[in-house]
Amino acid sequence: MYDPKSMKAEEFIDHQEILESLAYADAHKNDRALIDAILDKARARKGLSHREASVLLACELEDKNQEVYALAEQIKKDFYGNRIVLFAPLYLSNYCVNGCLYCPYHAKNKHIARKKLTQDEIRAEVIALQDMGHKRLALETGEDPVNSPLEYVLESIQTIYSIKHKNGAIRRVNVNIAATTVENYKKLKDAGIGTYILFQETYHKESYERLHPTGPKSNYAYHTEAHDRAMQGGIDDVGLGVLFGLELYRYEFAGLLMHAEHLEAVFGVGPHTISVPRVCPADDIDPGEFDNGISDDIFAKIVACIRIAVPYTGMIISTRESQKVRERVLHLGISQISGGSRTSVGGYVEEEKPEDNSAQFDVSDHRTLDEVVRWLMEMDYVPSFCTACYREGRTGDRFMSLCKAGQIQNCCLPNALMTLKEYLEDYASPETRAVGEKVIAANIPDVTNPKARQVLIDRLEKITQGERDFRF
Ligand code: SF4
Ligand code: SF4
Repeated sequence: MYDPKSMKAEEFIDHQEILESLAYADAHKNDRALIDAILDKARARKGLSHREASVLLACELEDKNQEVYALAEQIKKDFYGNRIVLFAPLYLSNYCVNGCLYCPYHAKNKHIARKKLTQDEIRAEVIALQDMGHKRLALETGEDPVNSPLEYVLESIQTIYSIKHKNGAIRRVNVNIAATTVENYKKLKDAGIGTYILFQETYHKESYERLHPTGPKSNYAYHTEAHDRAMQGGIDDVGLGVLFGLELYRYEFAGLLMHAEHLEAVFGVGPHTISVPRVCPADDIDPGEFDNGISDDIFAKIVACIRIAVPYTGMIISTRESQKVRERVLHLGISQISGGSRTSVGGYVEEEKPEDNSAQFDVSDHRTLDEVVRWLMEMDYVPSFCTACYREGRTGDRFMSLCKAGQIQNCCLPNALMTLKEYLEDYASPETRAVGEKVIAANIPDVTNPKARQVLIDRLEKITQGERDFRF
């Protein structure tokens, strides 16, 4: 029985409710009157239910689809302005006891080198990341209670926050580790993590069980209810995601939005972020084996529909996607991207030997962070290294209420400009620096509050003189 307030996975992600929503979407995919009504609701910035959003996703009317894209772009501008937050993944260990069929780290894969970073190696990786200019990391590790227990993750977080190399600092560590207990989530909270991210992979229970034949992750309910336990453990910001390509995309889309509705119904706070990875090649993994792959066009439509269904939720895209695809979906709702990423364990210090093969997936966008920063600015975005909200206590419902009121932008833009300025001073190539100074000058007038604008101008000057780490 479908119940968004239930704490049971099979009830808040109810299979029958998804099937009925998809049938409803199919029946109404060319229903102009209904589609107009849904678009009107979305225009009022009220968000959409999984069923309403499923109708838009299924819609075949070209003119209405163009309205969906235009609205997604407008909502993105209204909520987030033109800043794009940058982050990098940091792989700690690729030991894993699970048997996920789509991931090269699965326990049976014997032809990749298994690696786990020591604290000294983590220090070296973090220094390399700081020297690129990164301030925000997403920590990744396989599930292995012996080789990478929670204590190891906690110690690693402490190490990461402690490193201050030149003007560098990692100011926010988001964590993407296996589902765990409320007690362990409390420990992660106490370690000062930003967002706890866990991808569902697929919301289709039967497929989930087939794709996860062995290991603790094979327990669908325990995995699906993990965000609830994280919230109960005091982590305010949680991130959702599915791996598109494993199951039918419309099913995943409805499940993802139902999950967001569940969090909102139970905790009063929806997901902080949604990630939209697609299955991609890696050692022992051929995406062709998964027959639900989606085209770039459908991918773009999914991004646009998520954007208008949950306008207050940040959307993340990684270097799995090519420059071309990233360029397209940035307009439609993505607010965070990774740059200069290495998806192998220890990959920032040393280019990996081909025979080691320890990357979780093949990167499509190979550009350096400097190139990504310049590319964003050339498209009129403001690259941002901001980590202010979590450090100012703007998390959970405090963050959501500011975001829903459309006020978070008042912080995002000045913070983006100050952190970009730091980047230009400390890490940028001369070419990027020249473009960046122009971008900062052009965006200062968009800080509309005269007091805030003056504070911003003063702080930019102080950054030139060597001071760091200002925030609104
Ligand atoms: S997806 Fe995660 S849990 Fe599954 S094999 Fe890969 S690292 Fe392990
Ligand atoms: S001000 Fe908050 S929402 Fe805006 S970029 Fe910074 S951390 Fe993100």
